[in-house]
Amino acid sequence: AAPAAMAAAGSHLLQRGTLLTRGHALETLAQVNHVVFDKTGTLTYGKPVLQKSIALGKVDAELCLRLAASLEQASEHPLAASFLNAVDQSTLFLVEKAQNIPGKGVSGMIDGVAYTLGNITVVENRSITELGLPEEVQAGATVVWLASENETLGAFVLSDELRADAIELVSQLKQAGIRVSILSGDSEGAVKYFADKLDIDTYSSSMRPEDKLAALQVMQKAGDVVAMIGDGVNDAPVLAGAQVSFAMGGGTQVAHASSDIVLLSEKLVEIWHAIELGRESIKVIR
Ligand code: ADP
Ligand code: MG
Repeated sequence: AAPAAMAAAGSHLLQRGTLLTRGHALETLAQVNHVVFDKTGTLTYGKPVLQKSIALGKVDAELCLRLAASLEQASEHPLAASFLNAVDQSTLFLVEKAQNIPGKGVSGMIDGVAYTLGNITVVENRSITELGLPEEVQAGATVVWLASENETLGAFVLSDELRADAIELVSQLKQAGIRVSILSGDSEGAVKYFADKLDIDTYSSSMRPEDKLAALQVMQKAGDVVAMIGDGVNDAPVLAGAQVSFAMGGGTQVAHASSDIVLLSEKLVEIWHAIELGRESIKVIR
């Protein structure tokens, strides 16, 4: 190998806000033929805005929101900040036995009652269509559900935005003959909405962290060289399991620690730039 060429490439990338944390990253990038994205916080900004709180049981919408925000106090998930930003902090409840359920949500006890807040698996018996949400809210929205042990209490509609350069990156990757997929923990409707916008036809939804890792292992066994891009606590196992991985700069510590490259710039197009540079560096060395 030519260490000097590699070091030069590394410092060039750093100037663009792309930090290589593992030595092999550039060589592996040169071989990548499949790029796999997480959705929330990766393809989207991960700053969902709460659009609507809906009461579905005995508890009114305002109290549902206070309960939800209280449960989110200990969470690092992007959705947690959305809830906490929507309430007066002085109205939060004390939560006991707070727990993070990876790829699903959070749970805890408030005044002796056990609550769960998270994706549709929290309330398997009700669907979004039963709620009769308006079309414009439904498109691409993430719905978070609140339930006590035996009752559905509320639903929250949150909307997130596609990163400005996501479409450009996906089209560059495809032009270069690289396959593109999404593995997301969010629901089918939300994932399909963004996949359609990006013209990505291979995507999976409602995936727990272990499902993401299993899907990745299937791709890699089939001979794909995969670059995984993620941001969250839930993405750490799959980032660690990919041949090469990128964490978003604004992502969690554990995502940074589990990946080979940190995208400090938060610019998705830099992923293509890094792959291109990897390809060129390998040519120089050989
Ligand atoms: P993605 O793969 O899109 O980044 P995650 O794996 O982080 O999504 O989460 C999957 C889904 O689980 C989210 O779309 C959300 O419905 C639910 N979820 C996870 N963590 C939380 C949380 N702290 N609060 C509410 N819902 C959550
Ligand atoms: Mg994410």
